[in-house]
Amino acid sequence: MTKIYTHPNLYQVVNIQNLLDLKLIRTSVRNEFASGGSGELAPQDVWPELWLEDERDLGLAQNILAEIAANEQDDWYCGQCGESNAGSFDFCWDCEAPRKKI
Ligand SMILES: [Zn+2]
Repeated sequence: MTKIYTHPNLYQVVNIQNLLDLKLIRTSVRNEFASGGSGELAPQDVWPELWLEDERDLGLAQNILAEIAANEQDDWYCGQCGESNAGSFDFCWDCEAPRKKI
């Protein structure tokens, strides 16, 4: 299997997984519960990861990811609880406060 995506926020990884799933590209999430127990590992080694189930989907998955990256907005911080949110979110994943447009 091939790792095709990683991000510190599990919700963003699952969001990408759902977008790929709509295109019938099957993936699985690894490191889902790893953060917090990082120990001596580099922080990016414990980020949730998205792995491709079928290598034949690789080209299509990469195209979709490139498209997503091109449209991606910057991450933002919730004005209410301070959590970091992916740019694609309109509401805070944690406290559901709406994103404040600056
Ligand atoms: Zn919040």
